[in-house]
Amino acid sequence: MKIYGILGKNISYSLSPFMHNAAFKALGLDAEYKPPDAFDIPENELNDFFLRMRKGEISGCNVTIPYKEKVLELVDKCDDLVKDIGAINTVTVKEKALSGYNTDYQGFIEALKGRNAGDLNFDSKGKDVFVFGAGGAAKAVIYGLMDLGAKRIAIADIDEGKSERLASSVVDKHKGSSLITVVKDRHKYEEFISKSDLLINATPCGMKAGDGQLFDYRYIHEKLYVFDLIYVTETPLVKEAELRGAKAINGVNMLLYQAGASFTIWTGLKAPLDIMRKVVMK
Ligand code: NAP
Repeated sequence: MKIYGILGKNISYSLSPFMHNAAFKALGLDAEYKPPDAFDIPENELNDFFLRMRKGEISGCNVTIPYKEKVLELVDKCDDLVKDIGAINTVTVKEKALSGYNTDYQGFIEALKGRNAGDLNFDSKGKDVFVFGAGGAAKAVIYGLMDLGAKRIAIADIDEGKSERLASSVVDKHKGSSLITVVKDRHKYEEFISKSDLLINATPCGMKAGDGQLFDYRYIHEKLYVFDLIYVTETPLVKEAELRGAKAINGVNMLLYQAGASFTIWTGLKAPLDIMRKVVMK
């Protein structure tokens, strides 16, 4: 039997085991995606974990907070997209060699442009975008937006240094023409958001009851599109955006599409997205 799972820390909330196990079952594959606590490990156990993968004990894994960047040093191969983004969310092992991929990029683009229920159906070309967060997910988002021809991308993270590093790395590596701005002053959020066509939350803020607000929701205008990457069904940001007449989605479809892409990398098969969607919605 082939073993998969999700590598990260404090990840009991993960829906990936449900989606992948339903997909394995639907296609009659002899494979299991372990529960989230199976590969919930401290950083000093990462080397051992990758050794187990090399030996074939584990055939592949997803990677999440806080290891998406760290595992770049631990794989043997990765494609140019991963090198540019600097974050891995999927690892596969073939003939003892470990390859890293970033399917968040693909999942984000599909959910952003897509026209299925739960997609945003947004055309980024020539548009102004405001992104909260400069972590692993934000990197995939910003590369996606640049590849889709966004005109201006403003980034705001509580860690200003992180925003600055992300901004300079994309400017160095990407040949696109998007203008990247780091917004350091909270008082400037209103000015930027009021001119934005799309607002993205790529932080965990809103995941737990009691999380503060990223910004004053009064800045949300009717023409704004809102994409909250958090995938618990109704986030406060999505609720507030809808109340104010803006089109808003959460991260469920992105989660589904990135999972589908990971499934294909591991199995070479098209993922049964309808089945995976049903499980996630439940
Ligand atoms: P991450 O690497 O930890 O990055 C999150 C960033 O947001 C960090 O730099 C963090 O700063 C910053 N931040 C936290 N609170 C903030 C606030 N109030 N204002 C501004 N910045 C803030 O996490 P990630 O992997 O990028 O994930 C981010 C979110 O996206 C999570 O909720 C995750 O579940 C979601 N996600 C969804 C999908 C999907 O498929 N739908 C895929 C990937 C990620 P500090 O480090 O200083 O706290």
